[in-house]
Formats: sequence, structure tokens, C-alpha cells
Amino acid sequence: MKHVAVVGAGLCGSLLACYLGRRGYTVDLYERRPDPRVTGAERGRSINLALSERGIDALRRIGLDEEVLRDALPMRGRMVHPLHGETNFQPYSLSGDRAINSIGRGALNDALLDAAGATPGVTIHFDHPLTALDPSLGTLGFADGSSAKADIVLGADGAGSATRGLLMAYAGEGFSETVSFLDYGYKELTIPARDGEYALDPGALHIWPRGTSMMIALPNPDRSFTGTLFWPSSGSDSFASIGSPAAVERHFRENYPDLLELIPNLVEDYRHNPVGLLGTVKCAPWQMLGRVALIGDAAHAIVPFYGQGANASFEDVVELDRCLDATGDNWAEALPLYEQGRRENSEAIAEMALANFVEMRDKVADPFFKLGKNVEHTLERWLPGKYVSRYELVSFSTTPYAEVRRRVKQQHQVVGAVAGALVALAATALIRRLTR
Ligand code: FAD
Repeated sequence: MKHVAVVGAGLCGSLLACYLGRRGYTVDLYERRPDPRVTGAERGRSINLALSERGIDALRRIGLDEEVLRDALPMRGRMVHPLHGETNFQPYSLSGDRAINSIGRGALNDALLDAAGATPGVTIHFDHPLTALDPSLGTLGFADGSSAKADIVLGADGAGSATRGLLMAYAGEGFSETVSFLDYGYKELTIPARDGEYALDPGALHIWPRGTSMMIALPNPDRSFTGTLFWPSSGSDSFASIGSPAAVERHFRENYPDLLELIPNLVEDYRHNPVGLLGTVKCAPWQMLGRVALIGDAAHAIVPFYGQGANASFEDVVELDRCLDATGDNWAEALPLYEQGRRENSEAIAEMALANFVEMRDKVADPFFKLGKNVEHTLERWLPGKYVSRYELVSFSTTPYAEVRRRVKQQHQVVGAVAGALVALAATALIRRLTR
């Protein structure tokens, strides 16, 4: 049986190792960091994330869903906090009971590492940053000077993938890469428990839409919330524009007055926590020589506004598994098939994630947007199964992302045509009345 090297024991790599170990492969999983179960999670990446149907489906297929979701907190809709006026709850689904799940990144990674470590055939090597790769021979080199060899090498080493860089160095013009950074960064701020209880409703994802900036907050099992402030990285209204404690407080008093009270350590948190970068990675090809491939963020990192990066990465694993089934584990056929199956879908979710940023930042507080959502839910009720909102298709189904994009476009065309016809009828009736 073939020997597979997986680079990166993050969310995607550790799940991938579980799947491949179960197929009977000998898997060596190489991770740059020390074991996070011993040292604690690394700072600087999101503390929690939203897991939805696609990610859960990938876990369910190998019996990990219940264990992983044990501490997850279901969020059934958005709680919008306008600058002025009352908060309002917008359910994610027509029925109101479908939920995305807030889960700690560290807890999820630890559970997947435990599962990978317990899978026969899988060995995890921590403190092994990949620094060299020869795709034609399958040889890998690590920062400490050690080396290894494998029949198949899979790079699951995240948005800044070393495997991707090494493929580019190997293939030269035969490999293309674009990394488009958003001019927004993010900073995490903790909303602690108040008197031992959640300070906000833990059944919702909270949003403070403010046009240029936006804050969101997801609940944690310890009754705190992790808030994430999205704001331009530079310019007069940006992370770069405030530094002094007084300026931080003034900014929050003007834009997020309720958060001033909810985040007692605001200034300290703000000054201490780093500003993270956000971007979209595109590259081609995802596989070379039928022997080396990229998977997860390494192949297609996206901005986090649809909460789909990890979900899409888990779907990659399911697709690769399906391709191995379809080809009788012939990797030279399976890897191109996997790329073909996932590329259009990853491009679709990258585009939808960028579009959702505008929706979350600007539109959710707009009365016309709320009206539109009500119309959408009415259509879903009138045309069950025929009209399904984009959010439901993305978050509560495994319909391929590209198919979601096509279907939503068609739905919008039909709704646009019906709305146009209704406006024309109303205008005709009005003209008749006025000219009677
Ligand atoms: P990673 O999780 O980045 O893992 C890569 C691993 O490779 C790491 O362990 C790293 O240490 C290791 N590594 C790196 N270089 C090397 C090397 N040279 N050698 C060996 N190992 C190496 N997704 C969602 O689905 N829902 C959300 O709500 C969500 N929210 C997000 C919020 C924010 C602010 C951000 C930034 C992202 C969010 N995401 C979300 C996206 C999600 O975090 C990523 O899509 C997901 O982590 C991708 O998993 P991965 O395993 O491909 O990469």
C-alpha cells in the first residue's frame, strides 16, 4: 500500500489523515508547530469558527460528528445591533430552527488530532516545518535538516502554504498563484461572561454593522463571546488611525457604545491583540505529476464572511476520498479528478464570501434588506424546495457551491421578472385610475 505524507496538521490535514488511515494507507502527518494539545493553541488565528452542514457531513462520514460537536453552540440566526434602536433577530432558515455551530478552533483541532493519532497507520510528527520538496521523487526536507520520502505528498499547510511555494519553485511558469489581500484586517476582542452568564444571547451570531467597519461575536462554552472587529488596515478610518487608549475608547463610544460596557478590558485587548490579514488565494494547478497536491486553504484560502473556509476544506477531503473510490485508489487519476471536482466550487465560494462581506457590513441593518429577507422566506414557504435562499443552500446543504451560485442567479432572475411584472401591473392600475 502507498505511503502518504500530509504536510500540516491543522483542521484539514488532521481530518485528511483520518480518512487516509481508514483507507489503509501509511500516513505521516508533518506539523510545523509543537503539539497544541500540550502547549495550547497558537494566538493570531480566529479563536472560534462556525461549522455548518458541509463540515459536519465530512465528520459524520467517519463517525466524528457527535464527539466534535459536543461543545458546539448552535446559532440559529443573526442578532443585529444597530447603532441606534433595538437589536433585531434574523433567522438563518425558513423554519428558524436550523443552526450553524460555534466551535473553538483549538478544541476542533485537538479532537481531530486525537482522532488522527488513534487511526491505525497514522503517525504525527510535530515541530516539523517543511522547507524542501522534490515533487518528482516525493522527497521532503524539514527545518531541522531531517528528510523523508513518500509516494504521495499532500500539502494541507494553510493559506501561506510552504508546499505551494515549493511547487511554484519547482514548476516555475508551470504554476500560477495570486494572493489578493482585502484592505481589511481583523482583531479579536473578548466579551467575558457577566455574573457567570452570557452577556448576550448565545443562540445567535451577533453583528454590529457599521458600513466601513463591522464587529461580529460568536459564543464560547465558557460563557464568553469572541468578538472580531473587521476594519480597513490603513487610512483615516482604520486600525492604523487609532492608537492611544483614549482614541480606542472614543471610537467604540461613537460606533459601538454597547460594547464599551460589554468589554471591560477593551483598551488592553485592543492594544495587545494583533491585526490579522484577510485574503483570497488562487493557484493552479492544485496537483502535479499525479503525486503531489494541495488541499484546504493551501489550495484556495478565502475570506471568512460566509464562515465556509474550514467547511470547504473538509469538503475537499470528502471529494478526494470519493475520487479514490472512483479510481480504485489510482492517485494519478484521482488527483486530477479531485482538482476538476473542487476548483469551480472553491471559486464560487470565494466569490460568495466576498459578496457576503458587503451584506454583513452594510446591508443587514437596512430596512429594504430586511424586507427582502422576508420576501425570500415567503417565497421559500410558497415554493418549498423550489426557492431556497443562498444562505440555506450554502450553510445547510452539501449542494456544490458552483451549483448554489447558478441556482441563486436563476432564482433572482425569476423573482426580478415577477417583481417587474407586479410593478408594471400596479403602475398600469394607477395610470387607469388617474386617467378615469
Ligand atoms: P490551517 O487551519 O491554517 O492549518 C494549516 C496547518 O499547517 C497549521 O497547523 C500550520 O501550523 C501548518 N503548517 C504551516 N506551514 C507549515 C509547514 N511549512 N510545515 C508543516 N506544517 C505547516 N472557516 C469556517 O468554516 N467557518 C468560520 O466561521 C471561519 N471563520 C474564520 C475566521 C477568521 C478570522 C479566519 C482567519 C478564518 C476563518 N475560517 C472559517 C477559515 C478557516 O480557519 C480555514 O479555512 C481553515 O483553518 C483551513 O484549514 P487548513 O487546515 O487548510 O489550514
